Amino acid sequence: MMKRTIATRVGRAWARPACGEAPGGRKHLHYALFLSRKSSHPLELDLPALDRRWQREWERRRVEKGWNELPALFGKNEANSAESKEKMYILPMFPYPSGDLHIGHLRVYTISDVIARFRRMQGYDVMHPIGWDAFGLPAENAAIERGIDPASWTKRNIRKMKSQLQAMNGHWDWDREFATCDPSFYKHTQHLFLLLHKAGLAYQAESLVNYDPVDKTVLANEQVDANGFSWRSGAKVEQRMLKQWFLDISEFRQELLEGLGGLAKNRAWPERVLAMQKNWIGKSTGARIKFPVVAYDQQTHSDIEVFTTRPDTIFGVQYVALASNHPIVQSLAKTDVDLQAFLDTIPALPADSKVGYLLPHVRALNPLAYEDTTPDATKASLPIYVAPYVLGDYGDGAVMGVPGHDTRDHAFWKHNRYDDPVRFVISQSPDEATTTLTSQPFVHHGHLTKHSGPYAGQTTAEATDKIIALLESKGLGSKAETWRLRDWLISRQRYWGTPIPIIHCGNCGAVPVPADQLPVELPPIERHWGGGRGGNPLEHAHDWVNTFCPSCKGAAKRDTDTMDTFVDSSWYFMRFPDAENEEAPFSAEAANSHLPVDLYIGGVEHAILHLLYARFVSKFVVTTPLWPDGWKSAGEPFKKVLTQGMVHGKTFTDSSTGRFLKPEEVDLTDPSNPLIIASGEKAHVSYEKMSKSKYNGVDPSTCLAKYGADATRAHILFQAPVSEVLEWDEEKISGVTRWLRRLYEFIRHNCEDWAMLYDLEDQLPKHRFITSHFFEKEISATNFVTPLYHRGKVLVEATNQHMTDELKKNYPKVLAEDKKLWRAVQLTIANVTESYGKSHSLNTVVSDLMALTNTIIDQRTFTIKSGESHSWRTDNYITYHSVLELLKMMAPITPAFAEECWSMLHPRPPNALIRLLSTILNRLKPYTIVFPKADKHGESIFDQPFPTTDGTFEMLAPSKQSCAVQVNGRLRLVVQIPALPTNLKGKELEKWIVKEILDTSEGERKLRGGSEKGKPLIDIRKATKVIVVHGGKTVNFVV
Ligand SMILES: [Zn+2]
Repeated sequence: MMKRTIATRVGRAWARPACGEAPGGRKHLHYALFLSRKSSHPLELDLPALDRRWQREWERRRVEKGWNELPALFGKNEANSAESKEKMYILPMFPYPSGDLHIGHLRVYTISDVIARFRRMQGYDVMHPIGWDAFGLPAENAAIERGIDPASWTKRNIRKMKSQLQAMNGHWDWDREFATCDPSFYKHTQHLFLLLHKAGLAYQAESLVNYDPVDKTVLANEQVDANGFSWRSGAKVEQRMLKQWFLDISEFRQELLEGLGGLAKNRAWPERVLAMQKNWIGKSTGARIKFPVVAYDQQTHSDIEVFTTRPDTIFGVQYVALASNHPIVQSLAKTDVDLQAFLDTIPALPADSKVGYLLPHVRALNPLAYEDTTPDATKASLPIYVAPYVLGDYGDGAVMGVPGHDTRDHAFWKHNRYDDPVRFVISQSPDEATTTLTSQPFVHHGHLTKHSGPYAGQTTAEATDKIIALLESKGLGSKAETWRLRDWLISRQRYWGTPIPIIHCGNCGAVPVPADQLPVELPPIERHWGGGRGGNPLEHAHDWVNTFCPSCKGAAKRDTDTMDTFVDSSWYFMRFPDAENEEAPFSAEAANSHLPVDLYIGGVEHAILHLLYARFVSKFVVTTPLWPDGWKSAGEPFKKVLTQGMVHGKTFTDSSTGRFLKPEEVDLTDPSNPLIIASGEKAHVSYEKMSKSKYNGVDPSTCLAKYGADATRAHILFQAPVSEVLEWDEEKISGVTRWLRRLYEFIRHNCEDWAMLYDLEDQLPKHRFITSHFFEKEISATNFVTPLYHRGKVLVEATNQHMTDELKKNYPKVLAEDKKLWRAVQLTIANVTESYGKSHSLNTVVSDLMALTNTIIDQRTFTIKSGESHSWRTDNYITYHSVLELLKMMAPITPAFAEECWSMLHPRPPNALIRLLSTILNRLKPYTIVFPKADKHGESIFDQPFPTTDGTFEMLAPSKQSCAVQVNGRLRLVVQIPALPTNLKGKELEKWIVKEILDTSEGERKLRGGSEKGKPLIDIRKATKVIVVHGGKTVNFVV
């Protein structure tokens, strides 16, 4: 250990050897002599205490900064104003205020906070806002259950979740916060609705809707799962005809589809999300074909139109199937009681039901039946079924049944016409030899078979074009496309949502509420809550419902529907840039300067609905004056999307019964061997989606309070890549805590020495640490310099006298250790910057920073054996600056910890008394008191720029390496060449390595051709092939 002296131990000679004495030259005094700095930093690292301390400090600085920024409002220009910085908008999906922050929230907000902090340190003007997706059913249901107003319930939850969010050490733009249930927000949701209405994109229509009998509301198709159950209540959804509000998203379907191509570039959006959106939009091309109907009951029916993506299979049509609401079915049901009875059973059938009802008195004809060349089988008339698998709102409510080439048609045919053979009209090869599996439909493209008459032998592509052309010439078909995307049903018959700003008038119809009367506020509904009543209380709010028509001033009624919460979230991100605008949703200037969102982070469960609706509204907004520059991003709202994975909880089960175990039923004395207390048996451990029934939930607040926010954040990031499932195991958090503690103790131990370095560097420019100079200058030990100062003037430059003989002898070895450390720092900066900014591989950021911490601390003292062993230290400058760079890189992840360590190294200036004392001392030559400057100290680590590489990485590479030179696989010689330059590849690298080998004396003598003692020598310049392996440690020449 170094003996503590009152002298500054600045510079190499004084800093080492580790076991040595500090030499003379006590020319500096540091004010630290008068202060016991360590006292303010506890010995033991207490992470939760750091959170409290720094959260207070950040809040103090935020308020202070707010005051400092006031002059800007009055037109004062600051040199380094936000205007001069590039803007970046980072946004996590805003939370629903359920009342409890769950661990999934903590994960997504940690990811976004870390990236936002990183970008700020990189010099971006970052917007990182948060708000509340505050409307919706859970609040209304809670209100009914508990008899409280949904508004108060929601506000209470927001307060609670806000304090939880503050506890996670996040840096949020709280001045932009809003909740979608604030009238000041939903005024503009209504504003946007009216813009859509004016553009003809919001309309009312009678529609067969999904009705949830439990929540007593209408659901969008997207909110009904594949088996027909409500996504929220889990109830079996019923079909009802109701007048509803729709947004015409179909108008933008082509743009929504084409936009996906741009979002795929540079992997800006996850592939999976793009695939799901494409599938949801569901564009398919094919033909619309008419099947004439023959009736045997005096009725006449128009032709049945079907859409098919496979017109080439038309010779294989064996039946036609209709949806229950097809006009022919509806008309026949009036007289056919059996049909009506069948229709009544349909709502109760499963979605994949294969039952069918054969219409008794009608048949259909294949449109090709009129062609002479058509085979007889295709000319025969076709049975017509009513089939629940045909959806009424998709295509035309009719399909052509091709059992040979469609899976569902095949299953339907087997169920209803078991004995009738299936006709195969497409085969894999032209000779039909490969079509052997007649028990399965052949669903691929191929060649038409002999059953396709004149088209036999042609490919699907050839036949498709010809068949469509023929049908077109007969007026029986045409080329067509269909889309899976339906218009967006936005009305809900519930209270807790944005009221639809429409007034219904007997004379004038649906009249928009004039802009100056917005917002249409939700009326307070007393006495409704607590009665356990469902339905829509707005219908009974008579004073509110009854109003006057804005157009004719006659008596009229308000629309009692409210909007789906997806409408709120389809535009909220455009509000943050201008959250206090009262007149408009946002100003054009705000939109132009902040939109689109640069990085949007959220769960993959929002891959379809939310992101699709947001894209639609954004593309619409671009057609209005609201966002003039929106066309530059094709109206796309999110440049980059990052989807975070779920968090799974540690789940204990009793293997013998499969029963989930409560935490108190498990003995965790040995965490690696959990035992069931009751039986003593080993408990089975798995990681599963968190749920109350599995007792595997994690309360993030408990975790934050116990381990501190920083350790929790680092743990969350470290345990899994951001987009993969995180298996939450609290035991493992100790690894992170150990890392932070080790670093804290290391810094605390050295902080006095390093704080002096900082002050010297800061005030005496000659002492400034410029790594390239440092290493260049000291490559030769004779240049060993430690300047000494008196009153800021250099007194002595060369202080070789301070170098011990021991140091002189070992100098190259000592310097090599310094270089190794600084190279590790440089490599980490490069890797971590890439991971934070591009790949978002935040788990590797944590592991890289842990590794660098170990390198710095482990390398601080090292031993060199030269005769006898000596312990040495890495240079104080190098270690100190390595620690500074490390802390800056850690700061986005462990903000309070990094601030604490930073403040240890940059203490606040001394008080006036000490300053006076120092001034007196300064007069007593030869001392100089070095002060910290008031404006430099007490700065936040977040005011520091994020580290960048200084170009020394290449320079510090070990200068030479051995290279084994082989010729035709045989080792000829080993030479010393420089390390491979990383920028060379292929032919350039080969050329470089040939030159370097020939530059060595042995290479020159043996491999440059010519002859020796009459024998010809190899010339590697004429090699036909050069193979460089192991980073240049081996080269093989083929000659
Ligand atoms: Zn009217």
